Amino acid sequence: MTDYACKNCYKIINSKSCSACQGAQASKNWKGVAIILNNDKSVIAKKLKIESNGVFALRVR
Ligand SMILES: [Zn+2]
Repeated sequence: MTDYACKNCYKIINSKSCSACQGAQASKNWKGVAIILNNDKSVIAKKLKIESNGVFALRVR
């Protein structure tokens, strides 16, 4: 089950550490899901400063 979200890049991951952000913490306390398919055209991606495609949390605490 994928139930962690990276505090640094917002990516939803299935382990406590994000493979993209070394040393970044992942949290189980997140809300909302944004699926980014085209990050350079996505308003949500710009807002969250997401620079890759994938599944992201809208809020990570
Ligand atoms: Zn990350």
